[in-house]
This record gives sequence, C-alpha cells and structure tokens, in this order.
Amino acid sequence: MTVEVFPNQNAALTDKALALQQAMRGQVILPSHPEYDAARRVWNGMIDKYPAMIARCTGVADVIAAVNFAREHNILVAVRGGGHNVAGHATCDGGLVIDLSAMKGIHVDPVKRTARADGGVTWGELDRETQVFGLAAPGGVVSTTGIAGLTLGGGLGWLRRKHGLTIDNLLSVNLVTASGEYLTASENENADLFWGLRGGGGNFGVVTSFEYRLHPVGPMVTLAMPWYPVEDAKELLPKWRDFMQDAPEALSSTAYFWTVPAVPDFPAEYHGKRAVIFGGVYTGPLEEGERITRPLREMGTPFLDLSGHLPWTSIQQGFDQFFPARQRQYYFKSRYLKRLDDDTIDALIPRGANPPSPSILIVIWHNGGAMRRASAETTAFMGRNENYLFSVDAIWDDPAETEDVLAYSRAYLAEMEPYSTGGLYVNFAGLGEEGEQLVKDAYGAHYNRLVALKTRYDPANLFRLNQNIKPAL
Ligand code: FAD
Repeated sequence: MTVEVFPNQNAALTDKALALQQAMRGQVILPSHPEYDAARRVWNGMIDKYPAMIARCTGVADVIAAVNFAREHNILVAVRGGGHNVAGHATCDGGLVIDLSAMKGIHVDPVKRTARADGGVTWGELDRETQVFGLAAPGGVVSTTGIAGLTLGGGLGWLRRKHGLTIDNLLSVNLVTASGEYLTASENENADLFWGLRGGGGNFGVVTSFEYRLHPVGPMVTLAMPWYPVEDAKELLPKWRDFMQDAPEALSSTAYFWTVPAVPDFPAEYHGKRAVIFGGVYTGPLEEGERITRPLREMGTPFLDLSGHLPWTSIQQGFDQFFPARQRQYYFKSRYLKRLDDDTIDALIPRGANPPSPSILIVIWHNGGAMRRASAETTAFMGRNENYLFSVDAIWDDPAETEDVLAYSRAYLAEMEPYSTGGLYVNFAGLGEEGEQLVKDAYGAHYNRLVALKTRYDPANLFRLNQNIKPAL
C-alpha cells in the first residue's frame, strides 16, 4: 500500500494538522514553527529531511492520537526516540514524525531493583536516576543514545558479558500498536509480541515505556583503556583474543582502531596518531578490577593509558564528546565474524590502520558470557552466540569526504565478508542499503516468525521506517 506524503504547507496539510493538534496535549510542529528546524533534525548530520508535521507527544494519549491519525489518513510515519538511528529513520520527508523525545518519565524501584522509563529517555538520563541507588540497566556506551531504539534492536554495552544484552534485562513494555490499541508485553502477557520486540526493532508499535531489571553497579568501576601503536596490531590482537577467551564474564572488552583526537584531553604530541586500543570495563570490587584488567594494559607498550577507577556515569559519557548531535556525518555498519583467527586479523588490519578520515572508528566487540545464558530462541535478536561483532563506525566532518568514506566503509565490509557469518546487528545497519535482504541477514532463522508477527500487529506496514520486516499480506 502506498502512503501519503504532503508537499509542505498545502491546505490539506493545514486542515489535517489542526485535527491532529486538537487530539493532542503536546504540540504539533509544522514547517512554519520556529522550532521546526531543530525538531526535524536527527543525530546524524548527513540526514536532511523535511517532515510535514512533528507530533511532540507528552504521554500515552498523545501517542494513541498520533498513531490513529496516521493510520486513518494513511500518512507516512517515522517514530523518534533518541534520534540516533544512523539511517535517519526517526525523521522523514513529507510525513508525520511521532516524536517521543519529550517523554522523559523515569521511576526507579530500588527495593525491587527495577526501573520504568518512557520512550524518549536517553541512557544518560536513565543512568542518572538509577545510579542514585547504585544501580544500572545494561545499555549502550554513549549516554545520548535513546533507550528506545537501542533496546528494541538488542542492546550491547559494557555490561553485556556480566548481565547480558539490554533485552535480557527487559521485563515488560507498554506500547501502542498500529490499530491504536494500548498493550503490555512481557513474558506473561502477549508473550509472542514480547519475543519480537526484543530485537525486532520498531516494527510492531510505538513503545511508550520500558521496564528494566537493574543491577548493582559502581558508583566506581574499573576501566582499562590502553592505546598501543597501530603498527603493533598484528602482534597484539591475537593476545587480546586469547586473553578474552578465558577472561571472567564480569569483564567486557572491545578492541578499537582509532586515531588520537586533537582535543586537549589528549597530549598534543599524539594528536593524529592511529592506535589499537583494548577497552575493558569490570564492575566488581575495585581491587579485583585492577588485577583482572591489568593484562589488557600489558599486552605491549602503550603510548597512552587512560585506565583507572572511574564513576560508572563518566565511563558511560566517555565517548559523548566525539559523537555530537547534528554536527558530524556518521555511517555505522556491522558484521558478525566467524572467529578471530590470524587470517581474520590479517584481513582487519590494513584498512583499520589506514582510514581515509582520522575519526573513523573500527570496533571489534568481544561478546559471550551472560549473552549466551538465554537460548537463541528466547528473543528475536540473533547473534547472541556470535563471539565477535565487527563494526565500521565511520565519522567524518566534511560532506565533501562522504563519497570516499562510504566507499572505504563498503569496501572494508566487502573484504571482511569471507570472514563473517553473513549476519549483522540491526542497530549498526548503515543506511539499510540492502533493504529486505538486510533484515533477512540480520534475523536469519527468526525472520519468518517475525513476518508472521508483523502481519498480525501491523498488516498495513504503518511502521515501515525502520529495519523493516514486511508483512506477508
Ligand atoms: P531513533 O533514531 O530515535 O530510533 C531508531 C528507530 O527505533 C526508529 O526508527 C524506530 O524504528 C525505533 N524506535 C525509536 N523509538 C521507538 C519507540 N518508542 N517505539 C518503537 N520504536 C521506536 N547500540 C548498541 O547496542 N550499543 C551501543 O553502545 C551503541 N552506541 C551507539 C552510539 C552512537 C553514537 C550511535 C549513534 C548509536 C549507537 N548504537 C548503539 C546504535 C543504537 O542502538 C541505534 O542507533 C538505535 O536505533 C538508537 O536508538 P534511538 O532511540 O536513539 O534512535
């Protein structure tokens, strides 16, 4: 079914916007509104789209009104949580953005160790509330990312090997389906839908709130962050692989190729130097943390070592300054690796060491531990049994470099294809270039069950701006 998009500010749009505004407590932002330009933009500076209207929801009733309006008028819909999706799925041209970014409610129950948070909350906001009680929900590694998109795609962060994926700590959600129905989904209620929501992205409705299980974390935790010369990568990556194979689950570690940023936090003499970095976070007792993370710092001779005991919230904010909203261009795309043997490492190094733009970050997530405790069938998320996720996190400033950076990223991913399982993490899916094939690759054996669920909950594909699972009808 085709959907309607509006040329901006025509009469039909104005009438419809008025009707929507009357149904909402929050504002409907039109192109003539002074906040329109800020409201239409998302985190990726590369995305420049012009929605016809933005429904700035204040609560469940607004979300129901916006969903009903979109369905009744057959309007193209984008759903916005934190706005971080690289492909810019949280905005659109000529349609309606259902914007939850003003929905910031968070309630922590320190006794039950749970938190319920609204769909517009970011990880930094949730950490702030939970850390008051020395608790945290496993989220992502950049505090400005929305809980909504990250959770619905799976959720990888520094607690993944100790406490699992974000979805492994999701107790329930409240959502508005395409028919405008308000449902709870959990292990006990609408369990099939809950299965699909844990990894299946924004395909099944607009989630108005998420309930998480919390864990004692911090407030101080141990961070390892040694920077080694990239020339040593061939010698060091096998050591990191071997060490992490037997490392305690309480340690999560990620290897990076990155360039020392030219900012005052880093010594000027190293600005622009390419490095291989072994990040690690241990959230147990601090004295143990020092001992357990030490091998990461002694794999060779680091030229910089940012390791230490830090507040959990600082670690969660550590990358933020390098990922500013709306200013830079971003393209993140991933593949699971079959293994990290010496051939794979040899294939990784040349491009990892020599990117066309210095901020390009190459990430090798080492997974396992608690992620494997649930069987693969428990959630729609695929990849919980894959040990390594390789991701090109391309970041650059000058739009004139876009062509080169995208060509490099795609060539790198193509070169790694023989070493990959063919699967990918939907939250690092680039611009979704491969369309339906991308979701088939991402969901593998779970794809058909997801199609059946989509057909049941969103037969007209109202929620299509996402890693879209097409309904069977
Ligand atoms: P949005 O762009 O607002 O939403 C993305 C999509 O999610 C929407 O298109 C929609 O389909 C869906 N969606 C959003 N809100 C809702 C809702 N309330 N109900 C239903 N569907 C909704 N991922 C990790 O796992 N770990 C990380 O450490 C990590 N770090 C990142 C760091 C940066 C700087 C960036 C840009 C991304 C990172 N990601 C990470 C990927 C991230 O999980 C995805 O980009 C995710 O989509 C972001 O969610 P959001 O709510 O901010 O995005």
